[in-house]
Amino acid sequence: MLEGTCHCGEVRWTLETLPESATACNCTICRRYGALWAYGYLGHDIQTTGQTNPYLRRDSGDIYFHFCAICGCVTHYVARTEGEEGRYRAAVNLRMSDPSPISDIPVRHFDGHDSFKERPRDGRLVKDMWF
Ligand SMILES: [Zn+2]
Repeated sequence: MLEGTCHCGEVRWTLETLPESATACNCTICRRYGALWAYGYLGHDIQTTGQTNPYLRRDSGDIYFHFCAICGCVTHYVARTEGEEGRYRAAVNLRMSDPSPISDIPVRHFDGHDSFKERPRDGRLVKDMWF
């Protein structure tokens, strides 16, 4: 299991298993947040606690981004509507994790700005993206 917390500790998430990749996306919101995403379903393999402020992105309206009501860290996102089997697609921001458990996970570069396709892997790992 992997765990993440915001800077002040109010918001926590857990992800049931270590992800096989971390997604960096260049869409208009992800490039601003600088998040690294790992995916799952809220209430299934992703659990969250703590008070957040949600932001429903205005361009598509499909996703609520959650950030800590106190310290402002972007902790996770949740789909606005149910998907298959009544589950809510969600993602956690891996930057809320301690670096050590995820440092060797490969980064998947997703071109959410133009083609909406994954770019070829370039060998970078999470530890190459921390700064
Ligand atoms: Zn916080």
